[in-house]
Amino acid sequence: MNQASPSTVLPDAALALRPSACPGLLRIVAARDGGICRIKLPGGELSAAQAIAIAEASTRHASGVIELTNRANLQVRGVHAVQGGHETALIAALVDAGLGPAVGPIPANAAVDAAGLLLATSADDVRNVMVSPTAGRDPFALFDTRPLCTELLALLQTEARFAALSPKFALLLDGGERLARVDHPHDVWLAATQADDGVRFVFGLAGCPAGETNAKPGALGAVLPTQVTGLVRALLHTFLDLAAADATRMRHLLTAHSIDAVLQHARQYIDFPLSRDASLAHWQRGTPADATLRLGAHAQRVVGLQHAGGQPPLGRLDAATLHRLAKLSQQHGNSTLRITPWQSVLLPDIAANHAAAVLAEMNALGLACDPAQPITHLIACAGSTGCAKSLADTKADALLLANRLPAGVDVHLSGCPRSCAAVYCAPYTLLATAPGLYDLYRRNGEPDFGSCVAHQLTIEQAADMLDSLAHPARSPLDA
Ligand code: SF4
Repeated sequence: MNQASPSTVLPDAALALRPSACPGLLRIVAARDGGICRIKLPGGELSAAQAIAIAEASTRHASGVIELTNRANLQVRGVHAVQGGHETALIAALVDAGLGPAVGPIPANAAVDAAGLLLATSADDVRNVMVSPTAGRDPFALFDTRPLCTELLALLQTEARFAALSPKFALLLDGGERLARVDHPHDVWLAATQADDGVRFVFGLAGCPAGETNAKPGALGAVLPTQVTGLVRALLHTFLDLAAADATRMRHLLTAHSIDAVLQHARQYIDFPLSRDASLAHWQRGTPADATLRLGAHAQRVVGLQHAGGQPPLGRLDAATLHRLAKLSQQHGNSTLRITPWQSVLLPDIAANHAAAVLAEMNALGLACDPAQPITHLIACAGSTGCAKSLADTKADALLLANRLPAGVDVHLSGCPRSCAAVYCAPYTLLATAPGLYDLYRRNGEPDFGSCVAHQLTIEQAADMLDSLAHPARSPLDA
């Protein structure tokens, strides 16, 4: 790999750090229901021992409410006030469990080592690499992305200049699995594809692999698997070289620089050819993604092993449930859990003859394991119990809606236009306007939520309207 120095050398990465209001493991952010501590999981994976450590720490130092995020991370909500030392103790417990960034010892006292803490916080922030929750196990995958994911995470955390990236700057590494969330736009995406002489990774900027409803066909170029890390390094340096001070995402850079200019600039950081490949202008994923595989038991690559998946209602579970899931994975799986970007959890490597028992236990814990369950079609942001910006209690309203939701209709409830619960445009969005009242939007290719089709609906009215939109041919006499 060409280790060319960046053209804009930063003498001290700490000088270039961007302020952030996003929660992190070392930056607990206040919310209406207490502090939020976000735990970034490499590839969405954590060990059963780590899950138990999170469950115990969240009971001792927070409300015991744990959220699964749409980037396959976990966050502890309701962290108790700083005065009791709870924030420091929670962070220490999580770092001791091996959940912190891969930097040297993390300074405990900002007053003593402010710069060290800032750099550790930044190393935590940039740990944003999305892979499939079934990476390495999916029978349809073209490539096991786990080692590459480890390499990219190490690159992000150890190359000091990357501390200047926004905590939202994110990479997608798609191995071609069937269970893959490839509709989230990412700053840089790479996807495995089968060439005549082996696997290549096609790539793109500020988007996602085509083949999904939200993506346009096409990729910019293709590289060998051994060139992926070098390409990403080059693209990140290029971003930092060219981006204006207020440009935090790749899409911002592309408003000021052409893709060809970006690729040309990136060439100085690599020692392999890099150019736009016109033959990939219509590239699409070969295997259609199937999000329903996150629920229930499904075969893995190794015959006789399955993963078992379930979704806690609206992505929240309590400490006791997380603790029990960890124990289940120790009892029947490989002592790890995989968090998915659908705010659900997978237990890998379950012997096929134990899968039904594991699913029964997940059901008993309140997890939905069947895509026919309406709750698996609903997402909601924290709402007014957790966020001062919310105009409605979106979580409670989503539970009400679950009782009346037409089959197969996916709905996002958002307390304000920031859309924290969805980084993509859902088919239908209910945007709060007042407690219990929502405007209904339908996805139609327009930016943001799509087009507004009704105003100021109660949850009951919204359910009726969704039913008529989803089944336009149904007559009122049909009962
Ligand atoms: S979408 Fe708005 S209301 Fe909901 S959690 Fe985010 S900021 Fe708060």
